[in-house]
Amino acid sequence: MRLSKAYLPVLKESPADAQIVSHKLMLRAGLVRQTAAGIYAWLPLGFRVLKKIEQIVREEQDRAGAIEMLMPTIQSADLWRESGRYDAYGPEMLRIKDRHDREMLYGPTNEEMLTALVRDDMKSYRDLPRTLYHIQWKFRDEVRPRFGVMRGREFLMKDAYSFDVDEAGARHSYNMQLLAYLRTFKRLGIQAVPMKAATGPIGGDLSHEFIVLAPTGESKVFYDAAFEAIDLDRAGLDYGDKAGLQAMFDEVSSTYAATDETHDEARWSEVAEERRRTGRGIEVGHIFSFGDKYSKAMGLKVTGPDGGMVTPMMGSYGVGVSRLVGAIIEASHDDNGIVWPDAVAPWKVGIVTMRQDDDASAGAAEKIHAALHDAGVEVLYDDRDERGGAKLAGMDLMGLPWQVIIGPRGLASGVVELKNRRTGDREELSIESALTRLS
Ligand code: ATP
Ligand code: MG
Ligand code: MG
Ligand code: MG
Repeated sequence: MRLSKAYLPVLKESPADAQIVSHKLMLRAGLVRQTAAGIYAWLPLGFRVLKKIEQIVREEQDRAGAIEMLMPTIQSADLWRESGRYDAYGPEMLRIKDRHDREMLYGPTNEEMLTALVRDDMKSYRDLPRTLYHIQWKFRDEVRPRFGVMRGREFLMKDAYSFDVDEAGARHSYNMQLLAYLRTFKRLGIQAVPMKAATGPIGGDLSHEFIVLAPTGESKVFYDAAFEAIDLDRAGLDYGDKAGLQAMFDEVSSTYAATDETHDEARWSEVAEERRRTGRGIEVGHIFSFGDKYSKAMGLKVTGPDGGMVTPMMGSYGVGVSRLVGAIIEASHDDNGIVWPDAVAPWKVGIVTMRQDDDASAGAAEKIHAALHDAGVEVLYDDRDERGGAKLAGMDLMGLPWQVIIGPRGLASGVVELKNRRTGDREELSIESALTRLS
């Protein structure tokens, strides 16, 4: 991609209306623009990152055996009357009437819709267990949308729903999602600590929130540093290993971690002092096991192994895909801009010519651009006729992991500069060695 032909609008000034660093950087670097309160358009740079996050979430769901589908954003109010949540949900639900005066809503979540869908098709215990998910826009009319995409009104969520014949099955489905979440956040390059959570309006008794630590987080968090040492890829742990997954669950839940909602001073005081970590955190995911709450209310039943009817046990599992863009920036930036973890970077490499009007520089840049492109490396080439310093500052702001900096003086002695955005380390290399390093 050539910057001269891209749509990457950068703001010169730091936006005054943004309170937290991720929101400022997302506006300045041109990831999003607000179109109405809490509603954002995703510009090309932000959209690339959003898609990368979405794809990692998808791959880890697929690995855990969850099955992707897509449900609509608009739902019928009747579905929510069946579960009894239509009135209970309150003003966060955006309620709409169609031309025939039918009551509709923009879905804030999909428990009702999926339960209604599967009740026509799941007939026997042999059709279970199943976990279905989709990655779809949600709307919640937040009383105070703020912090950009972190608390938007329209936001992208991965939501999965599990159906099991019994409690043991439901527990295993929950454990599979727990592990999938830990692996997802690890791949995204962030540390998200699972914390015992209150279940709130979704109901049920088993629930964890996944919290990324950041000073601007909305909730206070307390956790045992031992959590950082839990090995998610321990030998042999796969999703079919029920005992292994339960052992993982037990290890995670016996390690103290809680938000202010569930914090327990007595248990906290038992954690060795040097391992106590406190701070603020951002909720990026939330998993629930809630038994037969929706299946019972909505009449989902299957025939059991002994011929009798069984009401399936359910769970639901959400990841805030669009919130993650902000949360990752909160956890990974410096004074000069965003520092993307490799896995979600919009491009891996940025090429900068210090003097685009120098033929040797432009020629070298073309060659590197073509070679990286052919090697399948995602690369953004700043081929504009701008001051070199301004181009470098723009690259720092956008946060691509690597920069190849090309100047007439270096080229005369056969080298370009390779800069690592995270460490700031710069190294002079021949074009060939730079290509080898980046491919
Ligand atoms: P919060 O406590 O931040 O209001 P929640 O507990 O209401 O979130 P859940 O119902 O658990 O949210 O939804 C699952 C995930 O969806 C959350 O963990 C979060 O990552 C994301 N999410 C929820 N509300 C928003 C929002 N307004 N903007 C962006 N992402 C959101
Ligand atoms: Mg909420
Ligand atoms: Mg919450
Ligand atoms: Mg939640």
